[in-house]
Amino acid sequence: MVMGMARRNTAQIKAVLEEAKRLMEVEENVKVSVRPLKTTIATIRFSSRGVRITVSPKVLNLPKKLQLYVICHELAHYKANTPYHTTSFWNELRRAFPNPKALEEEVLRRVMA
Ligand SMILES: [Zn+2]
Repeated sequence: MVMGMARRNTAQIKAVLEEAKRLMEVEENVKVSVRPLKTTIATIRFSSRGVRITVSPKVLNLPKKLQLYVICHELAHYKANTPYHTTSFWNELRRAFPNPKALEEEVLRRVMA
């Protein structure tokens, strides 16, 4: 059976999420969904009710390494418990990527292109 585009996208990003959780040492259940976003390419929300990441379909067109970076970026917000790009946020991200700011720039360059 051929999977529909939406299901294939979700399956793809779920695999990336599992790797990102391992890299970022996140054990909690994290839900992920794919839908167009107006002002960004990914968001995370976390509360007592759980953790949810939403990614734009644009993320799925990035190389796998950058998809992984985008998901780790969102998990770093969760780990550092802040919506901002604070020092502790970047330190969390360095668990997975020694030079996260270079990857951040690469993502922005590709998404804006
Ligand atoms: Zn961010």
